[in-house]
Amino acid sequence: MATQISTHGDVLRHTGKRAAIAAGLTIVMTAITLLADLGTNFDATVSVGHILCFSLAVATLISISLSAALSYRSARLMRDLTVTRSELSRISQTDQLTGLFNRRGFDDAAVLALTSARKRAVPVMVFLCDIDHFKSINDRFGHEAGDNVLVEIAGVLRRLAKDEGALVARYGGEEFAGLVVGATRDQAEQYAEQLRTACSAREIPIGSHLERVTISIGFTVSCADADLAELMRIADRALYAAKRRGRDRVVEADARSLVAA
Ligand code: GH3
Ligand code: MG
Ligand code: MG
Repeated sequence: MATQISTHGDVLRHTGKRAAIAAGLTIVMTAITLLADLGTNFDATVSVGHILCFSLAVATLISISLSAALSYRSARLMRDLTVTRSELSRISQTDQLTGLFNRRGFDDAAVLALTSARKRAVPVMVFLCDIDHFKSINDRFGHEAGDNVLVEIAGVLRRLAKDEGALVARYGGEEFAGLVVGATRDQAEQYAEQLRTACSAREIPIGSHLERVTISIGFTVSCADADLAELMRIADRALYAAKRRGRDRVVEADARSLVAA
């Protein structure tokens, strides 16, 4: 298995191991050559012993130096590659504006969380929330103010997600998605209400005044074997119902019916 080199400590360990292997091989090879040349003639071995010892020391030193220098260089390259790869992966999964997971990051993490929840037979809450009348904020105050509202709402969701151990993401535009493992229907409803009220209570500075925005939330709690795409579709249906029923509210949906929370 390839060694993972991601820290400077890993680089030094890799270099040390390679240098030790090089030293060991040099000593063994030199000893084999010596025995091959002098055979079992003990007198001959003793008489040239001091020259051989010196040669052995020089050969080992050169071998260690060369191997350490090359190993250190290649380990540094491998470390840089590992760091770059994980940074690229982080960037590709993160929403630049809010710092939350983006849709790709959410989907990847949510599938893992869902699989682990299924194995442990615990319920999973999936929710979608959408800022109400967000377009009018852009229209009245400009796109930059709209961006600021997204950052503020993301901050509220992030804070509450942390308390709850939830996964939360900017799913697109002014829509956020989340997943909570182990939430019963009552807990899920409570959590969604908490999100809704925390967002509407937040006073967001726009220009010289403070503005409040509301969000609508659709959620579902599943104990069965529904996959993520299906749960998202159900949560989306609930979100649509929340919008239709007047916004600034939470609606629960399950596969059979929509329930106003
Ligand atoms: P509803 O209550 O039905 O959700 O209405 P809405 O106005 O929130 O929804 P609508 O879909 O009509 O408008 C969403 C707007 O969000 C339109 C789009 O220009 C804006 N938007 C999407 N992404 C961004 C963004 O990254 N920054 C800003 N400032 N606006 C964005
Ligand atoms: Mg909206
Ligand atoms: Mg929307």
